[in-house]
Amino acid sequence: MNLIINNHIIDSNLEDILKRLRQETDGRFLKDIAKRGDNIAITCAWHKDGLENHPSCYVYNRTDNNEVPFGFYKCFTCGSKGQLYQLVSRCLNCGIEEAKQWLIDNFSKTITEELISLPTISLEKNKIEYLDESILDQYAYFHPYMFKRKLTEEIIVKYKIGWDKEKDAITFPIWDENNHLLGISERSVNSKYFYLPKDIGKPVYLLNFIKKEHIQEVYVVESQIDALYLNSLDKSAVALLGTGTKDQYEILKKSGIRIFHLALDGDMAGRHGIMRFIENMPDNIIIDVLLLPEGKDINDLSKEEIDNLRIMDKTNYMRFFTIHKN
Ligand SMILES: [Zn+2]
Repeated sequence: MNLIINNHIIDSNLEDILKRLRQETDGRFLKDIAKRGDNIAITCAWHKDGLENHPSCYVYNRTDNNEVPFGFYKCFTCGSKGQLYQLVSRCLNCGIEEAKQWLIDNFSKTITEELISLPTISLEKNKIEYLDESILDQYAYFHPYMFKRKLTEEIIVKYKIGWDKEKDAITFPIWDENNHLLGISERSVNSKYFYLPKDIGKPVYLLNFIKKEHIQEVYVVESQIDALYLNSLDKSAVALLGTGTKDQYEILKKSGIRIFHLALDGDMAGRHGIMRFIENMPDNIIIDVLLLPEGKDINDLSKEEIDNLRIMDKTNYMRFFTIHKN
């Protein structure tokens, strides 16, 4: 079973996660990390105050067992057991929510929201094989679900949103900032899954249009639907396909955009994403933040509600967020 935290699948290599964890404790915890079949054995973080001599705590390293989630640990000496984020919380001496966020921020590339299928991308000799735009022709249909998610006909045509008959899924082409077609994400009309290829950095969705049109002021959101919806309201927008990565900040720094309106989701992950965005952008870029209601994303709101959202400039936001962090 995958370890899923707030819609994010923790999908990194378990050994990497544990080694990073050890590193962040300056070697205080997890002295030994060794592969043992389906598990990774670690020095137990609980008994003997984390200083046992031989590793007797086993962390489960598979995702295909429906009974046991990835990263579940059990110590065969003291009997401690629990989820990976509890282990993180123990080692980093932080709360469970913070531990979960640490895992999401550092070790998750996949969001359980939409289904992305990128069948033809390969990375031979470090070269990306881009898709030919003609691949989109087979999906050139309208589907009622698009309108249900408040997309307009104009937006659907401009951004080539389509429908995959076989999978009954809405298709969203994803380009990089230089207008190369990287892949097609799919959002099943019925179920909710979302994958990005592991070996490709996340692009900034719709940035190719922003660059083509020399737009210097944009809204920044998490999901594709949110970006498309804002564009349909005549607000230029890009999506981070998540809460933002270092690579994306670098791409945005070189984009020519001078003003960012951050409209990430109204939840803890969204607020952390906003903080990271602000921290990673140069001071001379203007950034403000739209304060979304708890648990909402942009697509949940009407145009009027969006226009009436409270806005905070980046300095006040950082101050406010730091005070209310916990
Ligand atoms: Zn133990």
